[in-house]
Amino acid sequence: MDKQLQQIRKDFPILNQKVNDEPLVYLDNAATSQKPNQVIDEIVRYYQNDNANTRRGVHTLGERATEEFEAARQKVQQFINAKESREIIFTKGATDSLNLVASTYGEDNIEAGDEIVISVMEHHSNLIPWQQLANRKKAVLKYIGLTADGQLDMADARKQITDKTKIVSIVHASNVLGVTNDIKQLAKIAHAHNAIMVADGAQAVPHMSVDVQDLDVDFYAFSGHKMLAPMGIGVLYGKADLLKAMSPYQYGGEMIDFVEKYQSTWTDIPWKFEAGTQNVSGAVGLSKAIDYLSGIGMENVENYEKELVSYVLPKLLEIDGLTVYGPQDADHHSGVISFNLKGLHPHDVATALDMDGVAIRAGHHCAQPLMKYLDLVATARASFYIYNNKQDADELIQAICDTKEFFKV
Ligand code: PMP
Repeated sequence: MDKQLQQIRKDFPILNQKVNDEPLVYLDNAATSQKPNQVIDEIVRYYQNDNANTRRGVHTLGERATEEFEAARQKVQQFINAKESREIIFTKGATDSLNLVASTYGEDNIEAGDEIVISVMEHHSNLIPWQQLANRKKAVLKYIGLTADGQLDMADARKQITDKTKIVSIVHASNVLGVTNDIKQLAKIAHAHNAIMVADGAQAVPHMSVDVQDLDVDFYAFSGHKMLAPMGIGVLYGKADLLKAMSPYQYGGEMIDFVEKYQSTWTDIPWKFEAGTQNVSGAVGLSKAIDYLSGIGMENVENYEKELVSYVLPKLLEIDGLTVYGPQDADHHSGVISFNLKGLHPHDVATALDMDGVAIRAGHHCAQPLMKYLDLVATARASFYIYNNKQDADELIQAICDTKEFFKV
């Protein structure tokens, strides 16, 4: 992997720069990943050669753009092992995908008194759409709690999910706690109560092999930009039967069959959910990003990140006054590591680290109910990806130690 790793780093030109006179150490991958030359070049190639609007014209460029867009859909299908490519809907990102489900399936199927079950570790994008749906419909929003070490409490999940539950929507991998949830088991519990299972895979798909058929999820959402692809492209996977029965999300060009003055009919899935001009260059970039990740192998990605966590987590835990949130052992912790330094606000920690060229995030990470649950205002968060190495981990540790010394905490 070491040789491969050196090659990987060369593919990401942005990493080769100084920030505040120090070599950049980019550890904000949970917010967004960097893009390899292969993806950047592919977007340029698309615009230089093939750009046209899809499914509208019979001219050659229009056909090429349509073919590339649909080929990207098939690439995504294979990557997450969906049964059919029409189960893949292109969206703006995970947030858009989750809003789509809440405002179509949710709007069509939730009635007063029904239950929607989520967890306290949800990102706002898998929380507010359900909260607002529940408020509109006078439905009940329920939260699954956590175990003492910050994992999803499966015993509580079994209590919260009942015959009144219509939708269970849970994050696959947390963007704060570094835990991965047992979505397959949750889907089994949900289905036993005739509820559907939605998973937010924004932090999972970039880092592990995901098989939507094996998980038996009904809907699965993720973003391209956290997995080497550009911003503004994302995916909603949905089981074909559910998608076919659902109302459209948005109305406009390309999602219709016939339009009359006072009535319209809708075209087939997936296009029924893709109104208006689509982000073709984004889909083409995502397809290339999938090629790149598949070239490494998702198992290798996962194992390599595990190796990095096994290296850095014990070093972090050794630092006096530093608290890591979520599981304390590398076996149960992903490459997303949230922490606080006693006596310092996480924003000050992140600012101080930036002075050393180390980019981490600080804040509530779009998970305010989780912060409240943990009795925190905010945390600092370092998050790793395939182009990070042990040297980056050492720089992080050194920068934290320098910060402690500077602030005398
Ligand atoms: N869910 C999780 C767990 C996330 O980490 C994020 C991104 N921070 C999202 C959803 C939303 O993704 P996006 O902003 O790309 O729509």
